[in-house]
Amino acid sequence: MRYYSTNGRAPLASLRKAVVKGLAEDRGLYMPERILPVPEEIFRSKSFTEVSMAVADAFFGEDIPAGELRRIVEETLSFDCPLVEVEPGIYALELFHGPTLAFKDVGARFMARLLRHFTAGTEEIHVLVATSGDTGSAVANGFLGVEGIHVSVLYPKGKVSPIQECQFTTLGRNITALEIDGTFDDCQALVKAAFMDEELNGAMRLTSANSINVARFLPQAFYYFWACAQLGGRGNVVCSVPSGNFGNLCSALFGKRMGLPVKRFIAANNANCVFLDFLKTGEYRPRPSVQTIANAMDVGDPSNFARIWDLYGHDPDAIRADISGASYSDAQIAWTIRDCFARTGYLLDPHGACGYRALKEGLREGETGFFCETAHPAKFKDTVEGIIGKPVSIPDRLAAFMQGEKQAVGLPRDFSSFKRYLLSGAAP
Ligand SMILES: *Cc1c(COP(=O)(O)O)cnc(C)c1O
Repeated sequence: MRYYSTNGRAPLASLRKAVVKGLAEDRGLYMPERILPVPEEIFRSKSFTEVSMAVADAFFGEDIPAGELRRIVEETLSFDCPLVEVEPGIYALELFHGPTLAFKDVGARFMARLLRHFTAGTEEIHVLVATSGDTGSAVANGFLGVEGIHVSVLYPKGKVSPIQECQFTTLGRNITALEIDGTFDDCQALVKAAFMDEELNGAMRLTSANSINVARFLPQAFYYFWACAQLGGRGNVVCSVPSGNFGNLCSALFGKRMGLPVKRFIAANNANCVFLDFLKTGEYRPRPSVQTIANAMDVGDPSNFARIWDLYGHDPDAIRADISGASYSDAQIAWTIRDCFARTGYLLDPHGACGYRALKEGLREGETGFFCETAHPAKFKDTVEGIIGKPVSIPDRLAAFMQGEKQAVGLPRDFSSFKRYLLSGAAP
């Protein structure tokens, strides 16, 4: 399979190149040249791994030997993504049973193993990732213990919640946390500057684990097929996806092209509603993000819009035929968490709450719906406890992180200090 750039001015790339480089030369996002159908019998399967193998084979089968691909899929899916009924006709696809309790675990674990497959036996790879919280923990845990790859997580000092911080500062082994005396934007600027620096790139093999990488976003289609298999071939299925950078929804849309039996999708946003405005006007107008209590969706210029735009042939009406939108304020999110918990006993996190509400408001007669519950509510303990007025218990695997010892290297925010640190070999 070859990959083209959404900007159309870069040469076609192999899977290997698309994974190792992340972004095309023309700054566009890579797209698979063809989308292959998956066999219909997978919807009768009772195994998440078998369903996922069929999907993985369609995406990656031409480029990775079957046995190796199976090993990568099996190692990635060390946890289930169960479909849980919240109320009649409405199901939660729980994507928070992985190591860091959020859906990004799936993509990060798959990418780590695919990168190792392509680079094993060559020199050590150094992954740089800037985080405002969730991405760092998913990437760090996804790459933990993967041979031949070292990860440096750059995060802004004092601007990440203690629950988030402990998920990447307590790991040790091949993961180094770099506590930068600056903002998230400073962290991101340092990573970008490192990729541009000739001397650094001559001395070490640097790569990014950005969410736009095809190895992170395509495998997310696995759990959409698994959701439909769990629904047992029921028709008239609607799927609602809490969206920020639109990687998660985008993988579902690829799924639809491969035969995922979902009739239509809802993109559920917080107050950052660039996509909803696009659906209304047909014009895409990015703007600065605003801060909300569903902060992993605080995105004002979603990168994966370029993929959706390309997938639907630059036609707003074609997009509208498959996807509708919704947007909720913090007050509406809080009300939804409280209301759903009081009526059903199901505790939503602030992101899943957007997905649930959009589904509940948008579901029509005769339809069955599921929404992605993208994170465990305990990840947003203070917010959720403040809303429901009750303590939220912390799952064991999250509590284990909180007991670990914090190890971080403090650095100022200037590039020369960061570069000196990388070249010193202090990070193996
Ligand atoms: C990243 C994230 C999202 C948004 O997903 P996108 O793929 O960026 O649209 C939603 N919920 C949670 C909990 C997240 O961590």
